[in-house]
Amino acid sequence: MVSETTVLVVGGGLAGLAAASALGQAGYSVTLLESRPRLGGRASSFVDATTESRIDNCQHVSMGCCTNFDHFCESLGIAHLIHTQRELWFISPQGERSRFAAAPLPAPLHLLPALLRLRHFSFRQKLRLLRGLSALIKSPAAAHDEQSMAEWLPAHGQTAELIDHFWQVVLVSALSESLDRIGIASARKVFADGFVANRSGWEVRIPSVPLDRLYGDELTERFTRLGVSVRLKTGVAAIELQGERAVGVRLRDETLVEADRIVLAVPQDRVTALFPAAIGGRAEFQAATALETAPISSVHLWFDRAVLDLPHAVLVGRLSQWVFYRGEVPIPGEEGDDASWHYYQVVISASHELSGRPQAEVIEQIVQELTSLTPQAEGATLQHGRLVTEHKAVLSMVPGVDALRPRPATSIDGLYFAGDWTATGWPSTMEGAVRSGYWAAEQILTDSGKPMRLVHEELPVSLLSKFLFGL
Ligand SMILES: Cc1cc2nc3c(=O)[nH]c(=O)nc-3n(C[C@H](O)[C@H](O)[C@H](O)COP(=O)(O)OP(=O)(O)OC[C@H]3O[C@@H](n4cnc5c(N)ncnc54)[C@H](O)[C@@H]3O)c2cc1C
Repeated sequence: MVSETTVLVVGGGLAGLAAASALGQAGYSVTLLESRPRLGGRASSFVDATTESRIDNCQHVSMGCCTNFDHFCESLGIAHLIHTQRELWFISPQGERSRFAAAPLPAPLHLLPALLRLRHFSFRQKLRLLRGLSALIKSPAAAHDEQSMAEWLPAHGQTAELIDHFWQVVLVSALSESLDRIGIASARKVFADGFVANRSGWEVRIPSVPLDRLYGDELTERFTRLGVSVRLKTGVAAIELQGERAVGVRLRDETLVEADRIVLAVPQDRVTALFPAAIGGRAEFQAATALETAPISSVHLWFDRAVLDLPHAVLVGRLSQWVFYRGEVPIPGEEGDDASWHYYQVVISASHELSGRPQAEVIEQIVQELTSLTPQAEGATLQHGRLVTEHKAVLSMVPGVDALRPRPATSIDGLYFAGDWTATGWPSTMEGAVRSGYWAAEQILTDSGKPMRLVHEELPVSLLSKFLFGL
């Protein structure tokens, strides 16, 4: 199918990339405009000057329930660069390790043995936890999303220990917010989609290459083949309007680029500045400015030796939440095969408490935590460390947030929103961003009289989960 319709996609994050790829594959003439010199948006990498290596702004992981993200990677030929992990490790504050993997049982029983094996809870606590999980999945209050998890959990029999060492661990990692800023609906979704509905939902997908290779080098070539034109370092200053119709964009260098349709895939806090005040003041545009965000920090550490005998681990009850081993890297300035440092990334989601703390102090605390995990880390020397904080990393999934998130079709003819902040029903994640891009593309196809389903269904719900939880 080849279309005469021209589409401009503004923003080369995952939402823009997904919209551009879907519309390119549907035969549209697509141009993607990105203000920065690279694609990937918030899922990006940079060169660390000391180690001269490309490192990610933060480790990004996806899950088996992220069906649109999986489709995006498969359709663009990058799925082989993402590895699925079917075994996780939890390390308790006392250092006890619990292996977490699915048993050969149908969902939702597949993870029950793993939950019952968690060594840092007593059997009574585990029963309490299971009752809490069941109540959350069945909760009618989730439909109204008026309560935070910090309020809901104690009211449903969850003890401080369960809250700190289970609920907080899972939800802060998944939603990147503190429990007082997570609504019940978002929390329910994490457990329903990730742990209950389908056997594969919980699996963790980890890129094996830096993000800028995944979404940059690899996709650029693929887009060329699709006929999608990518223009980097091309910032958009304004959306050009004729009355109530979008007709193109004005670039920061004043050039006018015309198009039939525009997908605006920039972060929510960049939207209103692209419109005259009369338009930017409309409710659908103002909603974007009301959305709150949460920070995520990552601590990058290079040691002279391996400090952990696992590829990744969830650390319970510590400042470090999740540690990933990213392999050996050559020592800068030294030659020879055996000269290497061991590179680790530690993720701290919802890192509000780091604000104002000196970088060196945070790194020291994380190093102490990591080197206390195994005897092999004793005597390990940190060669280089850095803390990276993205202050507006993701949308805060506070109670009621979904009511503020706009749908792709706007009141301006020919203008569509995309981005992890739009009304995808998903938290702001790579899945949410890809979903929004596909949805915007779907809306363009519908408005062009060629409706086509582009957003992929969620994983099928097992019969037992339907029966037990009414999913
Ligand atoms: C530290 C961190 C860790 C994260 N970890 C995870 C994770 O583990 N798993 C997960 O699923 N998600 C994670 N996320 C969230 C995920 O990265 C985002 O949800 C997703 O990348 C958002 O994509 P997007 O396209 O909606 O927005 P963005 O990535 O923000 O893309 C918007 C693009 O628009 C461009 N732009 C802005 N203004 C203009 C303009 N005027 N003209 C042209 N271009 C413009 C920007 O440069 C940017 O490239 C993390 C995010 C961060 C920051």
